[in-house]
Amino acid sequence: MNCARVERLLDEYRDGDLQGPRRAKCDAHLRTCARCSDILRQCEKVAGVLRGWEQAKASDDLTARVVAAWEVAWPKARRVAHRRRLAARLAVGVGTTAVVGMMGFASLRAVSAASKAIKRPPAPSADEVYGPLEGLPVLEISDSGHREPGG
Ligand SMILES: [Zn+2]
Repeated sequence: MNCARVERLLDEYRDGDLQGPRRAKCDAHLRTCARCSDILRQCEKVAGVLRGWEQAKASDDLTARVVAAWEVAWPKARRVAHRRRLAARLAVGVGTTAVVGMMGFASLRAVSAASKAIKRPPAPSADEVYGPLEGLPVLEISDSGHREPGG
């Protein structure tokens, strides 16, 4: 068996699909030919790297990292909802002022009295709006794993 023939059969040989006398002839050639046995070693190296990639893709660690990041992000989602509710209440307050202003167009005193009568929503304190931001852990997802502050 010559080099060209062995080269064509190397995939089959490596996978164990090459059997019988053809495998025996291939074995005999590989024992004596440095060039073909070197090609076989290179093929095995590449196959090993590809197996490593498949294992990396199947990692369960990614799921755990996504869940951890979601748990950190959830309080932030609630903060955003809280701010939207505040904005909606403020918009209602401004709208009420405008309506009362038109109704009291005939009398400035009436407008003034009506404005005082409007129940304005309480202004949120800075602690209420920004308090939940403090001490919130930050989690980043990257290809190289997750990282925590100071870590
Ligand atoms: Zn050869």
